[in-house]
Amino acid sequence: MNDADDPVAFHDALAAHGLILPTGVPGGYGRGAVFEDILQRFNELVSREAADDGAESLTFPPVVARGLIEKVGYLDNFPQLAGSVHSFFGGEAEAKALSARVQAGERWEDLLDITGVMLTPAACYPVYPLFSGRLRPGGRLVSVLNWVYRHEPSAEPTRLQSFRMREFVRVASTDEVVAWRDAWLERAMQLLQSLELPVASDVAADPFFGRGGRFLAASQREQRLKFEILVPIVSQQKPTAICSFNWHQDHFSSVFGIRTAGGEMASTACLGFGLERVTLALLRHHGLDPLQWPAGVRQLLWPDPATPRPSARCPTTS
Ligand code: AMP
Ligand code: ZN
Repeated sequence: MNDADDPVAFHDALAAHGLILPTGVPGGYGRGAVFEDILQRFNELVSREAADDGAESLTFPPVVARGLIEKVGYLDNFPQLAGSVHSFFGGEAEAKALSARVQAGERWEDLLDITGVMLTPAACYPVYPLFSGRLRPGGRLVSVLNWVYRHEPSAEPTRLQSFRMREFVRVASTDEVVAWRDAWLERAMQLLQSLELPVASDVAADPFFGRGGRFLAASQREQRLKFEILVPIVSQQKPTAICSFNWHQDHFSSVFGIRTAGGEMASTACLGFGLERVTLALLRHHGLDPLQWPAGVRQLLWPDPATPRPSARCPTTS
């Protein structure tokens, strides 16, 4: 990084290059072709790294059952981040009233009602209920990629409301899960170092809500349940988490009744790459034009030189 920490200047430079497309929603920008190509290539690199692990690849929509969010305690721990889907259920008269309020520039949301779904807050959430009951010997390993929602609007380009997480989820005995998490921490560090990013790992905590939340965060740190891989993107002093490792102990397995083949309470852990943040870290450290990136980094992300790549500049902004 050569310029001073300035998240807004970084945002504007990304927009000027057509890498991100401002939409008026803070933390809700669009992605240009080059940004998206980098993100997809990084995701493919992760897939190649994990190819021999035998993970089951599962795909879910970006909404989850409201009951799932309630059951796992999300509204107790992170109510400030939750996103709820509401829709219109009325008849003719209510539809007219809704339209009139919208046209008059008045508030109208009280004419909607709550639906059965909420926005997915973490890519791994829909996985746990699948494994209620006894696991097969050796447990399960799942790969998921999904759009997730977090209500944290910000002008800062690394803090998005809607972004993608590539996750691996392990459901097995405590020993298996912890060994898997430790091995992946090492592996992810090496993977990100191979992309010439100045990464560091550290113990971390989730942003639990309120006064009680501070206690939960301290306990999570003390038990070393969450680790993050960090890299400076918008601040040298406060590096940004680009990958997280969470050991949930029996939190999800007790909610969903997940037991090992031997009948013990199972343990779960997940690791998640924040795909937009990894993309932004690469752009920050190697420059806004991937054609100018170090040869070793380009080789890892674009191993097949024959594959056409979108040009670095958006035609409307160059
Ligand atoms: P978490 O579930 O909070 O540990 O998040 C998993 C990963 O998602 C983090 O390591 C970040 O890379 C990424 N992430 C979390 N929050 C945001 C956000 N608001 N905007 C973009 N990426 C995020
Ligand atoms: Zn997860």
